[in-house]
Amino acid sequence: MKYLNNISNIKLFEFEWYLRDYFFRSNSNNSGEISMVFEIEDIVKTIGEKYFRYKTWTDLEIRDTLLKVLPILQKKGLLDSKLDADTVQLRSKLERRQCSDCYYVNCLGSEEAKKCLRCSSEKLVEFPTRIKR
Ligand SMILES: [Zn+2]
Repeated sequence: MKYLNNISNIKLFEFEWYLRDYFFRSNSNNSGEISMVFEIEDIVKTIGEKYFRYKTWTDLEIRDTLLKVLPILQKKGLLDSKLDADTVQLRSKLERRQCSDCYYVNCLGSEEAKKCLRCSSEKLVEFPTRIKR
């Protein structure tokens, strides 16, 4: 398991998972429309509303954490680095892959290294389609 040396790294690692999940879900609806450009304010609002984990966070806390995670995602090649201050752009649609070693569910862009974000294993398999309730 990737060494997480302090609380703030754990916070960012966790936030990254939710943000990737948000991007993944934005493009896995039935409309067939692909969204590649996202407004920072929309991300902040949606994460605060849709994810139970962040229900108690203020918009300011979410925005602050988001702004720390975005450069990490640019470096990994998920997001375009040519951004203006208000929007982010995906470089590719995300796909969901589960790690065969640690069972972590990863949402990875096709421009990214095919490696588990938690343990760096390359043994990733397609995550089973979930049954809609
Ligand atoms: Zn793993």
